[in-house]
Amino acid sequence: MQAMLWEPLPGGQTVCRLCAHACRLKKGQKGQCGVRVNRNGDLTTLTGDIVTSVQLDPVEKKPLYHYLPGSMTFSVGSAGCNFHCRFCQNSQISQLVDDGIFPGRRLKAANLWQMAVRYGARSVAFTYNEPTVFFEQLFEAAGQAREHDLGVILVSNGFMSADCLQALQRRVTAANIDLKSFNDYFYREYCGGRLQPVLDNLKTIRAMGWWLEVTTLIIPGCNDSPAELQEIATFIYDELGPDTPWHVSAFHGAWRMADHPSTSLDKLEEAWKIGRNSGLRYVYMGNLPSLLGGTTFCPSCEAVVIARKGWQTQCRIRAGNCPSCGTRLAGIWK
Ligand code: SF4
Repeated sequence: MQAMLWEPLPGGQTVCRLCAHACRLKKGQKGQCGVRVNRNGDLTTLTGDIVTSVQLDPVEKKPLYHYLPGSMTFSVGSAGCNFHCRFCQNSQISQLVDDGIFPGRRLKAANLWQMAVRYGARSVAFTYNEPTVFFEQLFEAAGQAREHDLGVILVSNGFMSADCLQALQRRVTAANIDLKSFNDYFYREYCGGRLQPVLDNLKTIRAMGWWLEVTTLIIPGCNDSPAELQEIATFIYDELGPDTPWHVSAFHGAWRMADHPSTSLDKLEEAWKIGRNSGLRYVYMGNLPSLLGGTTFCPSCEAVVIARKGWQTQCRIRAGNCPSCGTRLAGIWK
């Protein structure tokens, strides 16, 4: 399938405009994502409408805690990624061996929204691997989902190009974007990316009006210093606003960091406190059992407005307001 968002260059080369890598490819070369290739001067996507994972999930699993709480989202993933995070939890689909064969099956965009409706989902989520790299399917399926009144969610590393974001502006309703670190060295060394494009995109997404939540996977000894966590919290507060939910999530060994120690509950609570002390109104702990780490409190009166246990939610919000004091709560509630 021919790719979208690219330009031809002299001599049969192409430049891909889909993500911030902006790969310049000679004939026969693949981009860093492993799923876009220059075929005789045309940029082609190798995945097309192939999906590797399809599942009905609670929207809280994305994680999105302030977007249609308690609803189900029809989750879809394909193959490949423009990052190569050493700690990737989905490396079997994101990091492909270079044999040109992709796991999965074809799923047309039209079938996708129909399945979502049939299973009672309120939204479609593009997730599991980086959705940017299956843009062609995402673009079409998201448009159809919106036409049929479904929400559209991106779970992304936030490294897409400005062109990609602009093309998706009216087709996406909510996003959870990773802010993996506040250190460019970490992005380059551990992920094969860069920090600045992610920061720029977070600000653009905030300005575009998608519902936005941010996730940081806390990895012991890599991105967990109080100074760095403070920088992340300050950026979210200053640039995205105090109502932006921040999910601090525990690391457990995976892929090339399978033997790395897991995040302790103490460290997660430290990150939570840094977020709250920085003025962020909604900070959540994930991937470790915690009594209150998944609870939404009213920022005015501290009443519990959403209680969560596992993926079960008990939402007490009334017409977007706290039932105790009437304060307006940030989110998309129905
Ligand atoms: S999506 Fe990104 S990594 Fe893949 S070819 Fe395009 S610019 Fe390169």
